[in-house]
Amino acid sequence: MRINNFREVNSRSIGGDDVFLKMSCCGCSACLQKCPKKCIEMHEDAEGFLYPEINDDFCIDCGICYNVCPVKNQKPNCKPLAFYASQSKDETLRLQSSSGGIFSLLAEYTIRKGGIVFGARFNEKMELVHEYTETINGLAPFRGSKYVQSKIGDSFKQVEYFLKQGRMVLFSGVPCQIAALKLYLQKEYDNLLTVDVICHGVPSPGVFREYIKYLGKGNKIININFRDKHTGWTGYSTSYTLSNGKHKHFRTFFDYFLGAGLRLHYFLRPSCFRCPAKSGKSGSDLTLGDLWHIKYVPEIHNDDKGASLLAVHTLKGKDILRFLDVNVMIPQNEDNVRMYNASFYVSPDIPKDRELFWQEYALYGFMAVKQYCKKLRPTRLQNRWIVCKIELKKYLTKYILNLK
Ligand SMILES: Cc1cc2nc3c(=O)[nH]c(=O)nc-3n(C[C@H](O)[C@H](O)[C@H](O)COP(=O)(O)OP(=O)(O)OC[C@H]3O[C@@H](n4cnc5c(N)ncnc54)[C@H](O)[C@@H]3O)c2cc1C
Ligand code: SF4
Ligand code: SF4
Ligand code: SF4
Repeated sequence: MRINNFREVNSRSIGGDDVFLKMSCCGCSACLQKCPKKCIEMHEDAEGFLYPEINDDFCIDCGICYNVCPVKNQKPNCKPLAFYASQSKDETLRLQSSSGGIFSLLAEYTIRKGGIVFGARFNEKMELVHEYTETINGLAPFRGSKYVQSKIGDSFKQVEYFLKQGRMVLFSGVPCQIAALKLYLQKEYDNLLTVDVICHGVPSPGVFREYIKYLGKGNKIININFRDKHTGWTGYSTSYTLSNGKHKHFRTFFDYFLGAGLRLHYFLRPSCFRCPAKSGKSGSDLTLGDLWHIKYVPEIHNDDKGASLLAVHTLKGKDILRFLDVNVMIPQNEDNVRMYNASFYVSPDIPKDRELFWQEYALYGFMAVKQYCKKLRPTRLQNRWIVCKIELKKYLTKYILNLK
């Protein structure tokens, strides 16, 4: 019965375009990696996300795929042991990272201990993939947030292999990937440290592929920085390097991909609208995010080069903080986190016209994304204009009354 339910969600015929049904899969590929008959394959749907498909000819109904699925085996919400505000002492490292560079400090510590670090990086085709490194130089491509879903590949298998060899492993990813890894491994390992990020949701790799084609205009995109801090940490921009040597910079709201995907949610993965792993459910040791309430933490050096919020979930996670080369580690209360890092707790809303967006995307491709951004921008400006007019009217009324 349980397997039938699992199959229903993952078969191509039933999966269809129903966003609610698709919420039942976050694309972690734990099922594929664990299947003893190797009869699951990941296929891209029309929205550009990967979903598993079972080949019934070889399936033996063992139920293993169901048991490792983080959506079907969700844990209850779990309050962190503590929150901290912190930042790396190294300014250059912070500039290369999205927040305060804590991921790199954890990763360097792991490598110095002879361990291995897994993270998300772009490959030569500009697809985001999970890979590992054993060197400090090899950490550079993992640095920085990439606002697109990463392909896990067979990295859970590799993690298990290294753990069984007794090597220390740091696995970093979004919360559902950590939840999936934990279910895949089926037991706790002392030599595993898991670190996730506060996750607003992941935009579609398929739309991203179209975007970089559109941006490149015949040239390849060879480097992307989604969190370019040349314009500051709080007002970050996105930068793209083309194969002809040119660079393109956008303030995030004017980047069509981030505007329509991350801000307006049109092409976030359906599972992100009902996230199975937020709010401490992933089972990670640490969660990293941006310290957006920095103005309330005077001990942190506010040079607009980045600062981190850390949620500590386990004693193992807490213990490792002693070894990090940070300026300070200041305990934070939960109220500020709820206010400034809502994505730690709540999933984004589904846009009302999401279905219409995908219909138009099927017809016009990336041009539809552009139109959606354009359609929405004047509305915001109009709102601002209305506010300005009200303020102006108030001011003039006051002025005229004073004259009288
Ligand atoms: C999709 C996404 C959404 C986010 N949303 C928020 C948010 O709403 N609020 C908030 O406070 N913080 C958010 N973050 C986290 C924040 O941007 C930083 O990633 C985090 O604070 C770590 O920063 P750092 O300076 O310590 O290290 P960085 O060097 O910035 O760390 C990068 C780490 O993130 C991992 N990573 C990057 N992109 C991906 C990806 N697509 N999938 C899986 N792993 C990835 C890398 O493997 C590496 O471990 C988000 C991150 C991502 C990837
Ligand atoms: S039930 Fe077993 S054999 Fe069938 S797809 Fe799932 S893991 Fe594979
Ligand atoms: S969430 Fe992961 S384990 Fe569950 S069906 Fe989707 S890919 Fe498989
Ligand atoms: S919002 Fe949840 S489901 Fe979506 S990528 Fe992040 S952790 Fe996974």
